[in-house]
Formats: sequence, C-alpha cells, structure tokens
Amino acid sequence: MKPIHIIGGGLAGSEAAWQIAQAGIPVILHEMRPIRGTEAHQTDSLAELVCSNSFRSDDSDYNAVGLLHDEMRRCGSIIMAAADKNQVPAGGALAVDRHGFSAAVTAQLESHPLVTLAREEITALPDASDDMDNVIIATGPLTSGALAESIRAATGIESLAFFDAIAPIVYRESIDMSKAWMQSRYDKTGPGGTGSDYINCAMDKDQYENFVRELIAAPKTDFKEWEKNTPYFDGCLPIEIMAERGIDTLRHGPMKPVGLTNPHTAPVDENGNKKFQRSHAVVQLRQDNALGTLYNLVGFQTKMKYADQTRVLRMIPGLENAEFARLGGLHRNTFLNSPKLLDSELRLKSQPHLRFAGQVTGVEGYVESTAMGLLAGQFAAAERKGTLRGHPARTTAMGALLAHVTGEANAETFQPMNVNFGLFPLVDSGKGRDRKLLYTERAKKDFNAWLS
Ligand SMILES: Cc1cc2nc3c(=O)[nH]c(=O)nc-3n(C[C@H](O)[C@H](O)[C@H](O)COP(=O)(O)OP(=O)(O)OC[C@H]3O[C@@H](n4cnc5c(N)ncnc54)[C@H](O)[C@@H]3O)c2cc1C
Repeated sequence: MKPIHIIGGGLAGSEAAWQIAQAGIPVILHEMRPIRGTEAHQTDSLAELVCSNSFRSDDSDYNAVGLLHDEMRRCGSIIMAAADKNQVPAGGALAVDRHGFSAAVTAQLESHPLVTLAREEITALPDASDDMDNVIIATGPLTSGALAESIRAATGIESLAFFDAIAPIVYRESIDMSKAWMQSRYDKTGPGGTGSDYINCAMDKDQYENFVRELIAAPKTDFKEWEKNTPYFDGCLPIEIMAERGIDTLRHGPMKPVGLTNPHTAPVDENGNKKFQRSHAVVQLRQDNALGTLYNLVGFQTKMKYADQTRVLRMIPGLENAEFARLGGLHRNTFLNSPKLLDSELRLKSQPHLRFAGQVTGVEGYVESTAMGLLAGQFAAAERKGTLRGHPARTTAMGALLAHVTGEANAETFQPMNVNFGLFPLVDSGKGRDRKLLYTERAKKDFNAWLS
C-alpha cells in the first residue's frame, strides 16, 4: 500500500501516525526538528509539550476534556497511553513527566515497522500529482515560515492567521436576560439576520467608568520575546489597551451604545409607550456556534490574567453569574479558517489530498490537538483502504469538536476553541453537575455505538 505522509511530529502528527500504522498502512512522518527548530520547542523528541505538563482534568463524568481523554483512550491513543504511563501526581488533573512522555511516544513510533521518520522541513504544500496523494498537515501553531506561506497562498491571505485574538466566550444559559436583551444595532436584519441577533448588556456612566478603571488596573500576561516580533493588526487590540487610550475610547469602539435601546430601563410615557433612551455604553455578545449555546463578547480580546478576567467581566450587568466556555487571550498561533476551508473529514475542500490536524485546524490545547490528529489519522487510513470511517456522533466530545471546527463555528469570527459542553447539543434537563453528567452519559453511549 502507498504510504500516507504526515508533516509535523508534534502531538497531532504523532497520534495520526500511530492510528494509521495500527490500521496496517505505512506512514512517513516528516518532522523538521532538530534540522530546524521552532520558537518554543526545546528538544528533537516527537510530541514535545511546549509549555505546561498538564492534560487538564481527567474526570470523564463531569468535565468535557476528561471526556475527550476517555474517548481517545478507547481509540487506542498513543498519546493517552504515554501520558498514563508517565503520570505525575496532580490531583484530578492528568499531568505527566514531560521527558518520559515524549521519549515514550518517540520510541514507540520509531520502533513501529510501518512508521518511517524523516527529519526534514517541508517547505511547500505537496502537489496532488506527487507520490504524496494522501497527506496530513499537523505543523501546529508554530508552522515554519515557508510552509505557512505556501498554505496562505493556497487558502487566501485572510484564511490563515498568525495570531489568535480570542474574545471571551460565555454559555448562553448563564446570561441574565432580565438585564440583557436581544437586538441588532439599528435592528438591522442583514443576510440571515432577524434584527435581534445580538445579546446586549448596558452600562450607566458609573458602571462604565468603574469597569474601565478595573480593566486598566487588572494584571495582564506579557507577550513572549519572540511573539513581539510577529506583527498583529490594530483591529485586534486588547480592550485594556483601548481603555488606556482615554476614558471614552471603548464607548466609541466595541462598547458603543448607538442604535440600541434597552427595553428594561425604558420609561413609559402617559400613553403607555416606552420612551427609549440611549445607554452610556453597551457590551454586545454575538452567537458563536450554530447551536446558539455560546456567545462571544464582541471585540473583547484581552490579555488580562484569567482570574482577573472573570472578575472584571462579571462586572458587566447581565454577566454577574456568567460561566465562560473560554477566556480571552492573544498569542502567536498559526491556524486556518477551518469552518470555511475544511470539509467534515478535515480535508482542504480545494485540494482534498491534503488533510489538516491539530492546533492548526483551530482547536486549542494539547488534548484537543491530539484528538484532531487521531481523527485525521483514522479518516486518512479509511480513505487509503477505500472504506468509510464515519464521524463520531455529534453528542460526543470528538464529534462536537470536529463539527465545530469544520463548519458549525461562525467563520467570520472564528478563533481557536477548546472542548467544552457549550459545543454539545443541549440536554433537556438537569442543572450544574447533574447536567454535566447527562452530557457525558449520553456521549459515552453514543461513542460506544460509533466504536462498535
Ligand atoms: C508557546 C506555546 C505554549 C503552549 N502551551 C500550551 C499549554 O500549556 N497547554 C496546552 O494545552 N496547549 C498549549 N499550547 C497550544 C497547543 O496545545 C500546543 O501548541 C500543541 O503542541 C499543539 O499540537 P500540534 O500537534 O498541533 O502542534 P505541535 O505539537 O507544535 O507539533 C507541530 C510539529 O510540526 C513541526 N513542524 C512545523 N513546521 C514544519 C515543517 N514545515 N516541516 C516539518 N515539520 C514541521 C514542529 O517542529 C512540531 O514538532 C501552546 C502553544 C504555544 C505556541
């Protein structure tokens, strides 16, 4: 059988290689280290962990990332097996001895009779007429410059980002709609719009000025030295930087109150009609996924530290009890506009011999990147064998993440996403922990069906 090629031997590429080889198909894994390094990797090992040594919660009953661990273990994941073998104590989290972990993955792949490791940089997307007719690109957030340029040329300048500018994302059900309201600015309907597409949270002058003060005072994370050299657009300025430019800057930017009328505070005239008044400032939240379970704070990318971010954002009227599916950030990160570019099997629609996997598909985190490597590997193997793998159910952690990046996320605002229950179709009942258990029980049942 002709080999499948994988570019990038990080977490996703290593997992994809394993899944393909275990399916009995030869695989050539092209990894550029140590010939060429990245700004963050330190070794020449496969599956190197570039920062934290944690795979986050291992609780598959109450946590979405723990559920993803469980699903990957049941698919015979090499990454999960190496993590389990090299575990260090970390409470309910799965943390690993990073050197033992990546040494185990490297040794297992190097000794697999169907895996060939080629230490070289691939500088351009392989052509379909080459030998490379079934390729997985798993080059990660620090994809080398030459290959990134080639991807950009193939996908369009707007479709490959070099920085993520993540605005916080809130679970819709945690927003207090007795204070917030639905309305589009000037009730505009636009394509597919209803005139009430946004959730709005109004502030009076005192609330706004307190908020701006806290925003400026909150501790922030710094750019790494090498991140400073990557240009990012003025359109992605963190809100705290805008706030520092003047007390009213945000009111003229992402918090402008124009074209919005708060029904909760409108006084009623002598005829019983509401007299709408403009608020001092308004925070808008936009639907982030097709299910309507997640909303992002429009224009609110921020580098505030996570604990302070939660505290400051909960000062927004209506968000006092907000639960965050993802907090904001700004990092160097090469990723595709996958909802626009990839089909449901992670293939580039315009060149289906190329499949993407890992963080470059717009998922976020070690575990999520690995999961996309696992699926890409299984899809590529099935294609080579001429069989159909089928997708994991939409109700499973892998299925939810895959559906999000390959079409359900809003392509216009697409930013990297970690796995969370907001990506799952809603369950009918339950609250808090009970509700989470309903999600994971359903997922496990449906995942079993897919496996069998
Ligand atoms: C600085 C930084 C810190 C991060 N910290 C965390 C964290 O603490 N926790 C977390 O969950 N996530 C973190 N992430 C996000 C993400 O989970 C990791 O980057 C993860 O390693 C992504 O997996 P991947 O397989 O997609 O990419 P990687 O693991 O980065 O693998 C990509 C591989 O491709 C190789 N490569 C690149 N270009 C080429 C080329 N042209 N030819 C051949 N090989 C190439 C690279 O050398 C690398 O080995 C971090 C990201 C960055 C950038």
